Amino acid sequence: MNKLLLTGVFKPYGVTDEYGEALCSMELLYNQVTREQGIHSPRSNNLSFGLYLLAENIQTQSTVLDFPSWKNFTNEVDKGQYTHIGISFIVPNVLKAHRMASYIRRHAPDIKIILGGHGTAIPDLQNMVDCDEICHGEGVSWLRNYFGEDTNRPIIHPAVRTSVRSFVYGAPLMEKAGTILSGVGCQNSCSFCSTSHKFDRKYIAFLDTGKDIYDACIKDEEELGVTDFALMDENFCKSDTRARQLLAEMEKKNKAYTFSAFSSAEAVTKMGVDFLVRMGINLLWIGVESKADLFEKTKGIDLHALIKKLQDNGITVLASLILFLEHHDKENIHEEIDWAISMESDLLQFMQLGLNPGTRIYKEYDEKGKLMRDFPWQRRHGQDTIWFNHPNFTLPESSDYLRNAFSRKYETHGPSIMNMAHTAVKGYLSAKKAMAKREKKKLVWNPEKNAYLKQSGAKPDLYMKLRLEAMKKSAMKFRPALKTMIKYSPNKEAAEKGHMIIDLFNQTFGPVSIKDRIMDFIVQSTAIVENLRFKINGVIMRQPPVIRTVYKDRSRKNTQESKNNGPIKSASIAEPVNAAASLS
Ligand code: SF4
Repeated sequence: MNKLLLTGVFKPYGVTDEYGEALCSMELLYNQVTREQGIHSPRSNNLSFGLYLLAENIQTQSTVLDFPSWKNFTNEVDKGQYTHIGISFIVPNVLKAHRMASYIRRHAPDIKIILGGHGTAIPDLQNMVDCDEICHGEGVSWLRNYFGEDTNRPIIHPAVRTSVRSFVYGAPLMEKAGTILSGVGCQNSCSFCSTSHKFDRKYIAFLDTGKDIYDACIKDEEELGVTDFALMDENFCKSDTRARQLLAEMEKKNKAYTFSAFSSAEAVTKMGVDFLVRMGINLLWIGVESKADLFEKTKGIDLHALIKKLQDNGITVLASLILFLEHHDKENIHEEIDWAISMESDLLQFMQLGLNPGTRIYKEYDEKGKLMRDFPWQRRHGQDTIWFNHPNFTLPESSDYLRNAFSRKYETHGPSIMNMAHTAVKGYLSAKKAMAKREKKKLVWNPEKNAYLKQSGAKPDLYMKLRLEAMKKSAMKFRPALKTMIKYSPNKEAAEKGHMIIDLFNQTFGPVSIKDRIMDFIVQSTAIVENLRFKINGVIMRQPPVIRTVYKDRSRKNTQESKNNGPIKSASIAEPVNAAASLS
């Protein structure tokens, strides 16, 4: 009988050694969004969601190994119980995949090796990593087909948390969230986008309808105890019918779930802010990419106005910009960075133009001979140096410009977490005011028109009342950290902003509760330790615990254990960190 092990690459992550790099960790925000913000950076390790989705959707007996150490991995291979091992990796982790595959060949030559994830786009991969199969494209169908299973069975959505080891200022303040894997790929086909090209520039839905997504949320709530969700979908707002169905379903069942999502500017504009607030979107990742307006998705859109409107309504915005595009020179790159900073998004990702195999831009640069073909794969992560010949920048310069861009954003607008707290409280206030105004004018939500319209005999908007409570809960999670944000502010302006936010919280929500005072004390205490660790070591890199999930009984309920944390309550091929670099 076939038995499959699905594994991510081995630890340590975010450490420079012969297999990986310090600037490529398993942390999304710290790695490439809140870089240079030190102690203010929220920390967490995102699970390899794709592996759980795969295991849940094949009948072949399988085990998922997430965040293994080298020993965890070799012990698993040495058990001699697997017929197949699938290794998932992104491009910069290819040397880790190589080491793992070599070990399997030496110690268990009968095991078939399958490679998956964004790393499979590497040309001539089979000559770099010993393997039997390479899974390109969407993995569930591929695996079902490979094992001779029915490829048309409905998708079972796995209950998976977004992350482990979540901290801010060394304290476990971040709310637990579930992951919703509604689909992969994006039809927008931006030339640089790995995720779009991996799925042939098409969107493939795992959850076809809003009801399907709602059911996945319910499952996560029951099994993981979460009401907040990360929508892992390259461009969630693009599927507007499904999003509207999801809102209708939540309204029907009185559920005010909250979501973070990736969406392109044109799709966000089409959905409209009123809809997004009503649906509970509290964070949006929007690729603004370039002042030069090079991509269809941003054409004709006033991005400054869009971002301001979203934030004024309580939606945190993470904007992302690409540096070292072809037209950039030593003057206009500063204009580009200043343009992105001037949007005042809560969070801002700077990513070097990453020429990833499989994309249109990779092909173009390769054909023009601009690509540095011998550049080490493990260094191609977009947070150190570029790996092509740019007419105006050397490689070391590209590293400096990038780091300075992050510092400029931090110095200009203070810690991202402070901005997020501000957006959350502003949003609660504006939603409350808008609701009162609508009641006065007898405006009610019209799902067909996607707008609030006048209606005689209008009843109070009970769903928005529920939504307001959820917005309050989202804002209140920042409160115990506000004083700490001020204490470690980078400058006077940021400290003043912090005080203004505290005043706004007090005016909006009244005096601080005893519970929040205790939490405040705890955060201030853990921050002292965290700050000292930063000062002494320059960096804090926590390694996530291994998580091993066995999918034995194909009818359901799996066993999961975590080495460092003990058993986890209950129980997808793509690593999230750099894949997310090119989203929306
Ligand atoms: S960058 Fe965003 S909008 Fe463009 S193809 Fe990728 S996911 Fe779609």
